[in-house]
Amino acid sequence: MILNVIDGRAVASSGGDRRELIDPASGAVHGFATESTPADVDVAVAAARGAFDEWRRTTPATRSAALLAAADALEEHADELADLEVTDTGKPADVTRDEEIPASIDVVRYYAGVCRTPEGRSTGEYIEGITSGIRREPVGVCGQITPWNYPFMMAAWKWAPAVAAGNTVVLKPSELTPSSTSRMAELLSDILPPGVFNVVCGGADVGAALAAHPGVAMVAVTGSPRTGRAVAHAAADRFARVHLELGGNAPVLIFDDADLDATVEQVAFAALYNAGQDCTAASRVIAHESVYDDVVQRLAEAARTTTIGPLISGEHRERVRSMLAATPAHAKLVAGGGAPDRDGFFLEPTVVAGLRQDDELVQSEIFGPVITVQSFHDDDEALALANGVEQGLTASVWTRSHSRAMRFLRDLDFGAVSVNTHAPMGSELPHGGFGSSGYGKDLGIYGLEDYTRIKHIAHAL
Ligand code: NAD
Repeated sequence: MILNVIDGRAVASSGGDRRELIDPASGAVHGFATESTPADVDVAVAAARGAFDEWRRTTPATRSAALLAAADALEEHADELADLEVTDTGKPADVTRDEEIPASIDVVRYYAGVCRTPEGRSTGEYIEGITSGIRREPVGVCGQITPWNYPFMMAAWKWAPAVAAGNTVVLKPSELTPSSTSRMAELLSDILPPGVFNVVCGGADVGAALAAHPGVAMVAVTGSPRTGRAVAHAAADRFARVHLELGGNAPVLIFDDADLDATVEQVAFAALYNAGQDCTAASRVIAHESVYDDVVQRLAEAARTTTIGPLISGEHRERVRSMLAATPAHAKLVAGGGAPDRDGFFLEPTVVAGLRQDDELVQSEIFGPVITVQSFHDDDEALALANGVEQGLTASVWTRSHSRAMRFLRDLDFGAVSVNTHAPMGSELPHGGFGSSGYGKDLGIYGLEDYTRIKHIAHAL
């Protein structure tokens, strides 16, 4: 059974309830996770508060050494962690083992380094006779809530910068995929002092209890806009800080001067990676009218020949299928759309062409293996279509024109914009959106700074 990890110990919920874990690749129950109660959240927050006073006063070198040791321990258990991730999510084993787990461990190492070189403004006499300086301090107990699409990676993105900055953490993984996060905390219980990194398993009610807890100074969520809104409301009552990484709906602008071979290959990959269950998925293609037919046909071919893993649950697959079933008459399904005749929650890679801007498939984050295609006439229309959604996480532009690229890098309302590549990610590079995609950044120096507060200290001479 997958357990909570509180104050350095793996423990079952005080209520004794448990939840089935389903392998999306087969649809079969593969295990159980303990289901926390509000009382378990209280105990975890108390453990994190208890640990905070000492952890906040450690030196960056001490915290850095702990994170480096943590990264080594995770690396030693990388195969086990990858196996847990694969049975919870149905992801392809090689991608999980060779890409996601190493990239997540690199985030831990990155924050071990970056916490030793905090940046700040100059101490000095801004008021005559008074020396002023700036302290960057940890915020306190951080409640963190993660989704099911990259469970291990999202947990690493959350706890590593928070703990590196001197905070303590209570993290709630998705109820569908708690295994690798719980095991990670268990592995680190010998390395981090008890109470620094706690994990509570459970669903939305456990997340809500964490977000509303008076002992939690900051709540960080990666999840849907609905969850982000609920958490922000709960945190507002006590003015707790909120950090939100919410859904995306990435536009992919393909111009008539793009290298179509390279573009379509990379866009199809970025759209269908993780079966499209990715907040940066290259899902919303907007192609110039002169290359539109060619792009549609090439994407359809790519969709027919790409192998993908299952969606996370039967319920989520039904959600995607019902969106596809509502495809308007002016649009056309040019590839996929069906569920293959096999066990598990698989759905064929799908391309829908001829969509209009106010169609639900364009406006909503589909979060599945679906690529939509629209056409545009000129650059102004391309920009209006790309920006004409409420989400603002990632966008990409495919062109050989330098001046056009520079204009779109400036004018696209998204937290990350790239040219001739889609959503490149690295531990050093900030990730986070605008609009309904939330606010706050994960990764990079910004990810660390978001888990700190600024204090002005002044001393009269
Ligand atoms: P979700 O919002 O349903 O769940 C996310 C987490 O929030 C889970 O742990 C869930 O138990 C918890 N939760 C649900 N309701 C809650 C509430 N009222 N209060 C507190 N916690 C609550 O999202 P999901 O379906 O697990 O993940 C998919 C979503 O996550 C997509 O919208 C996707 O775009 C987004 N996402 C965003 C990023 C990013 O970096 N911006 C990365 C990955 C996923």
